[in-house]
Amino acid sequence: MIELRTPAEIDEMRAAGRFVAETLATLRDETKVGTNLLSIDRRAHEMIRAQGAESCYIDYHPSFGASPFGKVICTSINDAVLHGLPHDYTLRDGDLVTLDFAVSVDGWVADSAVSFVVGTPRDEDLRLIDTTERALDAAIDAATVGNRIGDISAAIAAISHGEGYSINTDFGGHGVGRIMHGDPHIPNDGRAGRGFPLRAGLVFAIEPWLLATTDELVTDPDGWTLRSVDGSRGAHSEHTIAVTEDGPIILTDRSFLGVN
Ligand code: MG
Repeated sequence: MIELRTPAEIDEMRAAGRFVAETLATLRDETKVGTNLLSIDRRAHEMIRAQGAESCYIDYHPSFGASPFGKVICTSINDAVLHGLPHDYTLRDGDLVTLDFAVSVDGWVADSAVSFVVGTPRDEDLRLIDTTERALDAAIDAATVGNRIGDISAAIAAISHGEGYSINTDFGGHGVGRIMHGDPHIPNDGRAGRGFPLRAGLVFAIEPWLLATTDELVTDPDGWTLRSVDGSRGAHSEHTIAVTEDGPIILTDRSFLGVN
C-alpha cells in the first residue's frame, strides 16, 4: 500500500533524515586506510544510542537473509555493493567503501547510502561513484508532482547507460515511513511516463547502484553481502526524499554539513 504523508508528518521525518545525514558524514570523515569495518559499526551503534534512535538493520530478517543482520550499518567494500555485513577487515589504500544506514527516530525512518574511496583513488572508481551520484541527482530532479515513477527510473537509466554501465533491477528504491521498506518500489531502470503518478506526500528512498563491468550479483557465505560476479567494483548512492507541491525535499541531505 502506498501511503501519503501530511506536511506535518514530513516535518516530523526531518529529524530522522538529519540524524542519518550527520551519522554518514561523521563516519565518512572518520573512515580511513587502517579503519576496521567492525569499528565503523561500533561507532554507528554509539551514535544511535546517543541519539535515542532505533536501528532498522540489527533485527532485520527478511526471507532472503540467513539470520538477523546483527549490525547497524552496511559496509560494502570494492566488489561488494549492497548489504555488506561488517566483518573483521581493515581498509587498505584505494578501497572503495559504501556505507548504507537506516534508522528510526521518533517512529520515522530515514535511509541513505554513500560511496567513497579511502587513500589513493583509481580513476575508474571515481567515475563509477560520480555516475551513481549524478544518477541520484537526476532521479531526485524527476521526483515532482505530475511525473510518474517511470520518470525517476528512466532518469537513473539515462545517466547510467550514458556512461556505459549496465543496470541490475533486482534491488531499487522503496517507500519509507514507519518501516524501512514499503511501497512503491522504484526500479533503477524503466520507461518515462509509466508507473504510479507522483503525488505530494510520497516519501521514498531512491538508490541507484552500479557495478563496473557486470550486472550480476553473487551472495557471500555470510548470507547477506552482495558482490559482483566478475570481481568488478560497485558504487551506491541513496537518499530519502519527500515529494511536495514545492518540489522534492531531500530528507537525508548532507550538504548543510558542507559534505556531499
Ligand atoms: Mg539504504
